Amino acid sequence: MVVSLGLVCGTWAAAQAPVDWLDAYREPAARLVGEALSSHFAWDRLAELTDTYGHRLSGSTNLDAAIRWAVAEMKRDGLENVRAEPVMVPVWVRGEESAAITAPSYQPLVMLGLGGSVGTTADGVEAESWVVKSFEELDASPERAKGKIVVFNVPFTNYGDTVQYRASGASRAAKQGAVAMLLRSVGPRGLRTPHTGVMIYADDAPKIPAAAITAEDASRLQRLQDRGLRVVVKLKMQAHFEPDVQSANVVGELVGREKPDEVVVVGGHLDSWDVGAGASDDGGGCIVTWEAVRLMKKLGLRPRRTVRVVLFTNEENGGRGGRAYLAKYKDQLAGHVLMLESDLGVFRPTGFGFTGQDPARSAVQQIASLLAGIDADRVGTGGGGSDIGPAAEAGKVPTMSPVAEGEYFLIHHTPADTVERIDPMDMARNAAAIAVMVYVIADMPQRLGL
Ligand SMILES: [Zn+2]
Repeated sequence: MVVSLGLVCGTWAAAQAPVDWLDAYREPAARLVGEALSSHFAWDRLAELTDTYGHRLSGSTNLDAAIRWAVAEMKRDGLENVRAEPVMVPVWVRGEESAAITAPSYQPLVMLGLGGSVGTTADGVEAESWVVKSFEELDASPERAKGKIVVFNVPFTNYGDTVQYRASGASRAAKQGAVAMLLRSVGPRGLRTPHTGVMIYADDAPKIPAAAITAEDASRLQRLQDRGLRVVVKLKMQAHFEPDVQSANVVGELVGREKPDEVVVVGGHLDSWDVGAGASDDGGGCIVTWEAVRLMKKLGLRPRRTVRVVLFTNEENGGRGGRAYLAKYKDQLAGHVLMLESDLGVFRPTGFGFTGQDPARSAVQQIASLLAGIDADRVGTGGGGSDIGPAAEAGKVPTMSPVAEGEYFLIHHTPADTVERIDPMDMARNAAAIAVMVYVIADMPQRLGL
């Protein structure tokens, strides 16, 4: 429809008003959106990934098999220069684990060891618990922590604030003499759902075992303590590290027809925690960014510049994939026009976060207007991602991330992170939004920001 109108009245329209560069993209944008929304291809592919390979922690055979699958599927899609770029990754193994209240009466706790934690001895660690609501409360009475299992009962406000307790809580408690650390899971109250995630030991504190318990169990420990009861908790964990192994970032491209050395990078991370199926975090992000490139290929839309999809490895417990990308491409970053990462869930998209200079932002805002039809045309601040971060920072490359409305943190790093939580049409909308944004940036006459 748009094309035929243009043919009928093109001459006088061009004479009356100069054609805005964006107008050339209304028709391909409509085709990309139409193709994305015409099927459940992206959701089906995510279901295949998560059903077949399940969760995919770095160093696991699941992740290795998923990497081989992604390489084969990208080739089948007709992407170019498909390859697995080797990355050495750490191997953390959870092993068997359990936690329970042993006094005043025996009650099992729903728990997940934190990634990177040491284990306990075979007999476990059993000690009185001390529940605190903040680092300040811990540090105000350090003598109370000695010999105890410190429990951080910090309700979820936002990820950035609450995750500090997961990252450094064990060492903060160990410095005051605690023998283990339990954490109220970083996430809103779910259905007694534990959330794992990475923790890091400080160099100047003993390494004590660290695990997440559910919000409900943390509240219960708090209430028992508030009633003046002496509560004893037992924790058993076999967690340990094994030697690093080789993993890989999966890369596929649509080579630019005019400026192949100018590159727009899109992607997510293929690894996940070792619970659930890594559907939302971040199988979905991998599939929708890959799908954006597949849609271009399928519709015969080859942009001026190269679009490169990268499925990074080891985001969750090491960030080695992102750093390996920087190491490999550090001499080519001047040609990187934009890096986009989808790692905030593939729920209903509302637009993008963008980090970059004003001229680039205003172009991105204009391109986003092409997405008003699917209500994904808002552009906010703070776009980026932890995998694209190292290269983008080193090369001062503008970054973007799709923004979506959904219950990302409810299922984040939990056994509930499965494909059932994701709506097929939301995935299609994500793929459509990314495809339009990336196609136009890769194809427009002027380089983004110039
Ligand atoms: Zn993630």
